[in-house]
Amino acid sequence: MKTFFALVGLCLISQSYGQTITSDDATPDLLNFVASSYELLETYEVEEAENDVDITTDYWDTSKIRVDYGKDIKFPIHLQFNDSNYASPISKNKVITSRYGWRKGRAHKGIDIDLVTGDSLFAMFDGVVRFANYSSGHGRSVVVRHFNGLETVYAHLSTYGVKENDSVVAGSYLGKGGTSGNARGSHLHLEVSYQGIQINPEYLLQFNDTNEVLSNEIWITRDMTRPELHNSKRKGSIEVPTTESEAIAVANKPKTVYIVKRGDTLSRISSRNHMSIAALCKLNGINKKSTLKIGQKLVVN
Ligand SMILES: [Zn+2]
Repeated sequence: MKTFFALVGLCLISQSYGQTITSDDATPDLLNFVASSYELLETYEVEEAENDVDITTDYWDTSKIRVDYGKDIKFPIHLQFNDSNYASPISKNKVITSRYGWRKGRAHKGIDIDLVTGDSLFAMFDGVVRFANYSSGHGRSVVVRHFNGLETVYAHLSTYGVKENDSVVAGSYLGKGGTSGNARGSHLHLEVSYQGIQINPEYLLQFNDTNEVLSNEIWITRDMTRPELHNSKRKGSIEVPTTESEAIAVANKPKTVYIVKRGDTLSRISSRNHMSIAALCKLNGINKKSTLKIGQKLVVN
């Protein structure tokens, strides 16, 4: 980055000197240029200062795909993004083949983006590589920790392009996609997490060709992290709060409750509410074999 600015500076200086020969008011021009390059440098200094925060001191474990923070996270989580865009993890249109949510009786805590084995993968934000290794299920994976505390996980790689503790910027090459681990066809399994808790990435980022961050300020509610409230075939519809008071209001909103009637079964209640039995059980802390009582209250989507 520094070299790039230095080069731009040199080019501009040589242009300004070129102008001094032909123009009488070249000196103010040159002064203007010097002033603007100072502005440029100042902007750069600020950016560098932010990235000077050492994100590798706390809970920096390069041996595990997911770090155990050993504590309960407090919701809502306040997340800030400096940029309104992210770098696309692949260089073609992103086609989501499976979303964050419940899938075949299990939690799918990321999104799957279609690719061809060998397609290059890129870091979505600046950061430091925390993990670049094989992990069962995820296969060859790269985890990047970013300066706002988020981590992005890129799984099922065929080749690594980075190693642990490498610094990356948004758009840095991370490796090539593939089918390693538990993957039924080549795709990128992408996870976004904060202090070990996965968040539905579609509440943070637009997965279309704009590559936009949904908002510079986002308050993550617990519901945005719960796979049992989502279906891997449909986009989630939870409200994304951009202020703390909104987040508190959303979190305190009464849940939709179903009251068990005579003849009800878990299967009937779940299908009526477009949920899987497993998700309904998880959400209510009950077992598939639990006996339902008439009048019992169940939280549904
Ligand atoms: Zn996946």
